Amino acid sequence: MSKKSIETLCIQGGYTPGNGEPRQIPIIQSTTFKYDTSEDMGKLFDLEASGYFYSRLQNPTCDTVAAKICELEGGAAAMLLSSGQAASFFAVFNIANCGDHVVSSASIYGGTYNLFAVTMKKMGIDFTFVDPDCSDEELEAAFRPNTKAVFGETIANPALTVLDIERFAKAAHAHGVPLIVDNTFATPINCRPFEWGADIVTHSTTKYMDGHGSAVGGCIVDSGNFDWMAHADKFPGLCTPDDSYHGIVYAEKFGKGAYITKATAQLMRDFGSTQSPMSAYILNLGLESLHVRMPRHCETALKVATFLENHPNITWVNYPGLPSNRYYERAMKYLPNGSCGVVSFGVKGGRTAAEAVMKKLTVVNIETHVADARSCCLHPASATHRQMNDQELIAAGVPGDLIRLSCGLESADDLIADLDAALNTL
Ligand SMILES: *Cc1c(COP(=O)(O)O)cnc(C)c1O
Repeated sequence: MSKKSIETLCIQGGYTPGNGEPRQIPIIQSTTFKYDTSEDMGKLFDLEASGYFYSRLQNPTCDTVAAKICELEGGAAAMLLSSGQAASFFAVFNIANCGDHVVSSASIYGGTYNLFAVTMKKMGIDFTFVDPDCSDEELEAAFRPNTKAVFGETIANPALTVLDIERFAKAAHAHGVPLIVDNTFATPINCRPFEWGADIVTHSTTKYMDGHGSAVGGCIVDSGNFDWMAHADKFPGLCTPDDSYHGIVYAEKFGKGAYITKATAQLMRDFGSTQSPMSAYILNLGLESLHVRMPRHCETALKVATFLENHPNITWVNYPGLPSNRYYERAMKYLPNGSCGVVSFGVKGGRTAAEAVMKKLTVVNIETHVADARSCCLHPASATHRQMNDQELIAAGVPGDLIRLSCGLESADDLIADLDAALNTL
C-alpha cells in the first residue's frame, strides 16, 4: 500500500507524468489502438502482453482513474465501469454463476436489491438477505454449500445502517468466500473496508467521488487478499483454464490481479459496460477534491441533523453521526472522521406533511440523487418506492413520512434556515 497520505493520493494518485508530459491526465478519446504487427496484437488477445486494443475492454484514461481509486482504497487492482449498477453486477457475477448463491445484507440500495433479487435471480443466482444486525446464528444459517460471496454496504442507502464489516468478513472467510462491500456513501476518505477484512470494494462513482452531479460511473477494487486457489473448488472461473483465452488460469497467471483481469477479459469483453474516457476525466476532477469535500458534507450533515432533532415538527432523525443514533458506536469505530452527508427524518403529520414541507424548500431541491455539491431531497414514498403501500413501506424501512436529505456544500446556516422556514409552515 502507498505510504502517501490520502489527501495527496486524491490529487496525485494513479498518474505520474514524465518529463514534458501533460500535468493533467490525458483524455484518450480513441476507440482503438494501432500496432505494427499482427503478432503484437495477438499477444494482447492471448493476455500474454498487457496493452490497449479496443476501448470496450480497457482505455488508458479509465485505467489511470481506476488506479487512483485503487490507491485510495489500498487495493491491488481496480477497474472503472459505466455505472454503480454495473459495478455491483460485475463484482458478483465474476465469481457467482447459475446455480450459485450469495448472502447479502438486506439493508442495501434499492437498485442493488432489484438487481440481486429480480434480475440476477432470473440468471439462476440465489440471494439470501439478512438483517445486518442479525444474530450470529441467523448469519451462519444464511450460508449454503454453494455460497460464493457475501455483500453489504458500509453505510446503506437510504436506511443509513452501518455495516459491521469485521463481523461480516469473518463470517465470509469462515465459509471460504470473499466479502464485497459497496463503499459509495463512506468513500475511502471516511472508511477503507480492506483495513477491516473486506476483500472487494465497489463504488457508484456517480455520488461523492464525482460529487458534482456530472458523470454516471462505477468502480470495482480488489484488495488482492483473497486466496482463490485455497478455495479452488468454489471458484472454477478463476482457478481452472479459460478456453476463451487458450486455457489460462487467472489465479495462477495474474496473482493479485486475477479477479480484475477476469472481470475485464470476460465480462467487459462480453457486456461492454465501459466508462467513457470523458466521464473518467470528469470523475478525476471530482476525486481531486474528495478529501476536502467529504469533511464538509459530514460537518454540515451533523449540524442539520442536530437542528432537526431539536425541531418540534420533527418526529425522528436518522444520522449515524448523532450520539442518539443506534449506529453511533459502530460509526465511531468504522467512520471516526465522519460518515456521509445524507440525513433522513420524519415529519409530524406523516406523508402529506412531508410532501408539503418539501414543496416549500428553496435552497434544497427535489431530485433523485444524493451525494452532490448541491443539496437535494427525496420523498421515497411518492418517488422511488411509490408502488408500495404503507405497510410495505414500513417493512422496507422507508416509512411514508421519511424525507431523505443529502446535504451539499452550501452554507449549513442557509440549509437550516431553509428547513426551518419550511417546517414552520406546518
Ligand atoms: C447510486 C448507488 C448505486 C448505483 O449506482 P449508479 O451509479 O446509479 O448505477 C449503488 N450503490 C449505492 C450505495 C448507491 O448509492
